[in-house]
Amino acid sequence: MPLKLYNSLSGEKEIFKPIHENAVGLYVCGPTVYSNVHLGNVRTFMSFDFIYRTLMHLGYKVRYVRNITDAGHLTDDGDVENDRFVKQSRLEKLEPMEIVQKYTVDFHKVLETFNLLPPTIEPTATGHILEQIELAQKLIDKGFAYESNGSVYFDVLEYNSRGLNYGELSRRNIEELFANTRDLDGQNEKKNPQDFALWKAASPAHIMRWNSPWGEGFPGWHLECTAMSTKYLGEKFDIHGGGMDLKFPHHECEVAQGKACNGTEPVNYWLHANMLTMNGQRMSKSTGNYILPMELVSGENDFFEKPFHPSVVRFNFLQAHYRSVLDISSEAMAASEKGFQRLMEAVKVLNSLSPNISAESSVFNLNDWKEKCYEALTDDFNSPILISYLFEAVKFIFSLKERKESISAEDLEELKKLMTAFVFEVLGLQNIEENNNEKLNQALQVLIELRNQARKAKNFELSDQIRNRLLEDGIELKDGREGTTYLLN
Ligand code: AMP
Ligand code: ZN
Repeated sequence: MPLKLYNSLSGEKEIFKPIHENAVGLYVCGPTVYSNVHLGNVRTFMSFDFIYRTLMHLGYKVRYVRNITDAGHLTDDGDVENDRFVKQSRLEKLEPMEIVQKYTVDFHKVLETFNLLPPTIEPTATGHILEQIELAQKLIDKGFAYESNGSVYFDVLEYNSRGLNYGELSRRNIEELFANTRDLDGQNEKKNPQDFALWKAASPAHIMRWNSPWGEGFPGWHLECTAMSTKYLGEKFDIHGGGMDLKFPHHECEVAQGKACNGTEPVNYWLHANMLTMNGQRMSKSTGNYILPMELVSGENDFFEKPFHPSVVRFNFLQAHYRSVLDISSEAMAASEKGFQRLMEAVKVLNSLSPNISAESSVFNLNDWKEKCYEALTDDFNSPILISYLFEAVKFIFSLKERKESISAEDLEELKKLMTAFVFEVLGLQNIEENNNEKLNQALQVLIELRNQARKAKNFELSDQIRNRLLEDGIELKDGREGTTYLLN
């Protein structure tokens, strides 16, 4: 079955043809690690985790590069004061590289919580300064870039004058772009407002700085991704992904840089994941309309009525196609939780079943079902359709349990293998002993409450007894400002 994917570059679904047989080069723009990732960021990374898992399941050997942006991502090109790392380091009274470390660690922890697989290469921008300087120099040498006051800019008009088309990916018209650009600070050193920075000169106050042929400075964000993708995947590679909001200007600039450098389209297929919204509005740090992933899992937030397990969140996200907007809500999460539990129950039942060929012959055709599942997977990674087919199997599994349906030994083995592959390997869901954990949690909350009551009544003998007995069993109670929590040792 051919794999079809929606290519933002052509605006059409295309049949995927890898550059090297059975291998895929995949690049996904990583996080800018100046603060915690929000749940919206997690959705995009999860969309590509599902795509990565599917490609591997279909038999491709995937080199998956996802970078860490730890320098150079300005809020706008013109103002060095807008360096996110420098700003945040002032706010938190930490070194910029402490900010980078803190939020890189947080990013990894969050993705692990939601069972995302690590990429095969995770390069950092600061680890590739030399490559970026070389690229900027190459663009100057070819006449596509110019130096101005120690900064280097890409010359968009020059690019277009050579028959190339800045705007081809985002389908923007260059004349309109020029007409709609405000004159921002620092743009007087550019030939045109649409020119973008490849390298920025550092002001004396700017801490993150490196030597370059143009003086001390730091790299531009767009150049980072071109430098790292070229280094690890080559001048032309298979798939580039990222959130919709990166299509312009970030990915448009990557296309321009790649084409100007090497004369060819750098990427064969551009995939863009759609946004997570909350209250109908895009989740975003800057507007305050966001929730942190761990807040959803712990229940410590004002938006959701209860905590949700990471696998339930994952299931909820994958119930939407990666190119559709997804609005997160308490109701939708509760429905996903029910569906997830039913799916897990079915997998458990399935694995305990033995063949039953004595009952009436089945209406469920395993081969047809398998084909439909693969059709969904290969139709632009259609997870919601795949999930709907999994629920056809769930219904069948419960009928088997009640002996209302039959299945041969061979088919049963095949069904077990396929369900396990789709649920755990491809969708990346985890079979959690949620009920047990939840019960244990509830029981401990009762003990904590009883201990608090004993302490209030100054019955310290009893309160100490509760604490010490639990400690003997490896359960440590910790009293903090937010109340008492426990640690399972
Ligand atoms: P950033 O660290 O800002 O570069 O964002 C990391 C990734 O998260 C990018 O691919 C963004 O497109 C993506 N992203 C940002 N906001 C959202 C959102 N509300 N929903 C889904 N993805 C998002
Ligand atoms: Zn990027």
